Amino acid sequence: MLPAVEGESEKMSPFSGLDELMCYYLLGLTRVLSFSRTVRNTLNMITLLVPLLLSLALPNVLAWGKDGHYAICKISQEYLSEDALFAVKQLLPDSAQADLASVCSWPDEIRHNYHYRWSSPLHYIDTPDFKCNYQYCRDCHDSYGHKHRCVTGAIYNYTMQLKLANADASSELKYNLTEALMFLSHFVGDVHQPLHVGFTGDLGGNSITVRWYRRKTNLHHVWDNMIIESALKKFYGSDLSTMIQAIQRNISDIWSNDVSIWEHCAHNHTACPDRYASESISLACKFAYKNATPGSTLEDDYFLSRLPIVEKRLAQGGVRLAAILNHIFTPKTRIAQA
Ligand SMILES: [Zn+2]
Repeated sequence: MLPAVEGESEKMSPFSGLDELMCYYLLGLTRVLSFSRTVRNTLNMITLLVPLLLSLALPNVLAWGKDGHYAICKISQEYLSEDALFAVKQLLPDSAQADLASVCSWPDEIRHNYHYRWSSPLHYIDTPDFKCNYQYCRDCHDSYGHKHRCVTGAIYNYTMQLKLANADASSELKYNLTEALMFLSHFVGDVHQPLHVGFTGDLGGNSITVRWYRRKTNLHHVWDNMIIESALKKFYGSDLSTMIQAIQRNISDIWSNDVSIWEHCAHNHTACPDRYASESISLACKFAYKNATPGSTLEDDYFLSRLPIVEKRLAQGGVRLAAILNHIFTPKTRIAQA
């Protein structure tokens, strides 16, 4: 079954070692393709049995704040092909009024809702403390050890759902493609927030209490919200669209030679979230965790040196989301010719 094989090749990145190879064979094709259904059934069962325990066990990990997700999706919309823009508009709920950015925080809004609690671990990856690297088979699981339940696994899964549905109309019935689009757009954003691929021991910086200037907060929240909030106030007249325009100017100016490298996925894969996650944990170690020990006060030195990292990650998230959607919604005739 060609689409299934194609879905599997989407699922896993090129393997870096024996571990990943073993993981690949052990998991098997069927397991990967039934990811969504299995996950839902399993998690629905768990949530039915131990709703309270589940909510206590899940770390309180947030996501890029609303502004970060809005910026990424707004940027991506500018780079969508005509075909992709048409397909996206078809899938968006009416309430979005054809604006993808308006629904990009939806997965954060519903993640604690009873029917969507299964989606909560899909926003991040916990990596081994102080290793500063990421491996899909080692790290992509939830706190119960269920494989694929992390942000990269979710990106592979929703990319595959949208791709299969675009190639074969009968698969549309199997999936909720509107939700798939909203989850994919959100998770591509999340995986670019460096602390969404952070250490297990501190819950991606959530348990590292710091001061952001005078305000008491935690390191994860600094990277989700505070750096962007402070930048809006200090440099962009508290106007998000001015900040987005500045990032867009950088994309077409100082980063213009990098865009094709950002977009590129090995072997013509549609998405390569393992690469985005590896970049994130590397940036987390070099910039997010550095000089941000528990109890520290983060001020101008930290803010001004980290803001360029945040702005570049928003740009990369937007450009890559557009590239993924453009690849997914390639006209069927061109897929047939390939
Ligand atoms: Zn999120």
